[in-house]
Amino acid sequence: MSDEEMAGIESRIAPPDLTCPRCKNLLPSGLGELVCSMCKAEVKVEHEITRKKWREEKVSCPECSKVLVCGVDQRPTNLQCAACKSHFVLKPHRPKIEVSCPSCERKLRMNKKPGKREIQCPACQVEFRISF
Ligand SMILES: [Zn+2]
Ligand SMILES: [Zn+2]
Ligand SMILES: [Zn+2]
Repeated sequence: MSDEEMAGIESRIAPPDLTCPRCKNLLPSGLGELVCSMCKAEVKVEHEITRKKWREEKVSCPECSKVLVCGVDQRPTNLQCAACKSHFVLKPHRPKIEVSCPSCERKLRMNKKPGKREIQCPACQVEFRISF
């Protein structure tokens, strides 16, 4: 199961944006052992500040809205609400970017993922490519 399909809530804390030391493309967002999606290099990423922020992140339970302190320095992580006992997943933050359509200049928001993507503008149907 990819993390795109997981039910749960999204972390608001983003790890730093880093580029692959081999091919200079953007690495996938995360900490620990990352694999560059362009050249498949394995890169170890650590960032103590992000880990600390992850531990201290406050999230509200999707069931009862009680605010919990996460206490775990990994994403994704499974949490259990202390009030209603429901389980939910705290998913990694998905970096978003804004791009403008080259034809109508409408601003489109999308998940930032390394690599090239083909996009179709929902307003004017023009197709264009972006790469990160
Ligand atoms: Zn690379
Ligand atoms: Zn709850
Ligand atoms: Zn457009």
